[in-house]
Amino acid sequence: MRYVMLGPPGAGKGTQAVRISNRLGIPHISTGDLLRLADVATPAGAAARTLMEAGHLVSDEIVVDLLFERIRRSDARKGFILDGFPRNVIQAEILDEWLAGQDEGLDAVLEIYAPVAVLLDRVLSRSAQAVSAGSAPRADDNETTLRQRLESYRMETLPLSDYYHRKGVLMSFDGTCNIDALATAIGEQIPAVGR
Ligand code: ADP
Repeated sequence: MRYVMLGPPGAGKGTQAVRISNRLGIPHISTGDLLRLADVATPAGAAARTLMEAGHLVSDEIVVDLLFERIRRSDARKGFILDGFPRNVIQAEILDEWLAGQDEGLDAVLEIYAPVAVLLDRVLSRSAQAVSAGSAPRADDNETTLRQRLESYRMETLPLSDYYHRKGVLMSFDGTCNIDALATAIGEQIPAVGR
């Protein structure tokens, strides 16, 4: 049970990944979350934080180290759902090579797409909700950084749709519908992750 969630910021990858993780009993591994937990007192942690807050991708070396440290743990032996990795073709090739070395492959790549206007609206309202609830919004959930994150997505991550389509594992879903409807659509297309 090895899955990858693909999609721009605000598409709803994390929400669906958590549901699938609970349903299948496999860990949800988000590189964004791993990076936010990285110690900023270390040079790698500090470099990652600066890039994230500007909406740029963190270096492959840093992300790959964090990711593999996590997927080698025993709870990921029977599978995992990746959210935020891979984010470019180099990372996808590194993952493929590692999986091949384990005699494994990806069961499916779940791509969630939505128009930019919807993504902007969702991320900015998530940030406004955090403020009105008295908590701090994510440092990268502001319009300028979000536009840069969308641009990084377009330039570096979007080619992965083609990459995984050619490998025959890509499944694409319209992310503009509500959370339950999207979960249902995913379950219909991929019965193994269904309800
Ligand atoms: P989102 O998908 O909503 O933009 P994430 O929480 O997945 O947010 O990631 C936040 C930031 O962490 C990204 O904008 C990027 O700077 C960094 N990041 C996360 N995953 C990767 C990755 N695989 N490669 C490079 N940078 C990453």
